[in-house]
Amino acid sequence: MQKFSMLSHSDKVAVGVSGGKDSLALLYVLKKFFEEHDRTKLVAITIDEGIHGYRDESLQIVKDFCSQIKVETNISSYKDLFGLGMDQAMQERPSEKMTSCSMCGTFRRRAIDIMAESVGANVVATGHNLDDHLQTFMINLLSGDTERICWMYPEPVQYGPNGLRKVKPFVEIYEHEIVFYAVLRDIPFQSEECPYMHESIRTELREFLNKLETGHAGIKYNAYNSMTKISKMLKTSSMRSLSHSKECLACGRNSTGSICSVCKTLQVLAKST
Ligand SMILES: [Zn+2]
Repeated sequence: MQKFSMLSHSDKVAVGVSGGKDSLALLYVLKKFFEEHDRTKLVAITIDEGIHGYRDESLQIVKDFCSQIKVETNISSYKDLFGLGMDQAMQERPSEKMTSCSMCGTFRRRAIDIMAESVGANVVATGHNLDDHLQTFMINLLSGDTERICWMYPEPVQYGPNGLRKVKPFVEIYEHEIVFYAVLRDIPFQSEECPYMHESIRTELREFLNKLETGHAGIKYNAYNSMTKISKMLKTSSMRSLSHSKECLACGRNSTGSICSVCKTLQVLAKST
């Protein structure tokens, strides 16, 4: 956390908690850290994507765990925020080219921003680990999205009207280390997998990278270091053009184009029905 100046003393931190091992372990670690440093401004935010049979288990886990370690929880849904959940979005999408994970990711980023603002937080912490980060890098690389790569540098930048910062304290930790920690500390977590996960290339990349790691210990960490250097260089060189971000014509939030990705997705879904 210190390496990339992730937290300062006066921050109010909202932790994005899904019910998976990473986010619950992060909440646990931050709660301990806050207690040791006499800090109280920590809340959990949880999003219900509206995926039948998948979210119910994890919502209960989140509620129980938060009351056990005494952290305030805030739950909101895509349905509340955008008017439709993922199951409905999957039915209404015009083609399979709009993958579940890209729609869900677009909605999730916005939902987290809205919820963090509504609880008065200035920092959002998420449980992304080194494996997640590496997979995302590969996805961006394979889809030609270099702009997203420059946003991947782990040092937080302020964005939006309220100057939110996003931090990923577990970004240098392997996924299996977090599983080990969660089991060791008796942290409950959801085992159910998202029914739409087969639509993403992420699963294939995860298996591929783990296979490499088995034969060449440390290769994921090396790749992470290369990725960090690349994203830093890209970020530095494109800083000027990025500071000219516009406002979305539909919702008024920061956007790279005239209409932001959330509004664009909602428009496509509305048109196809
Ligand atoms: Zn918009």
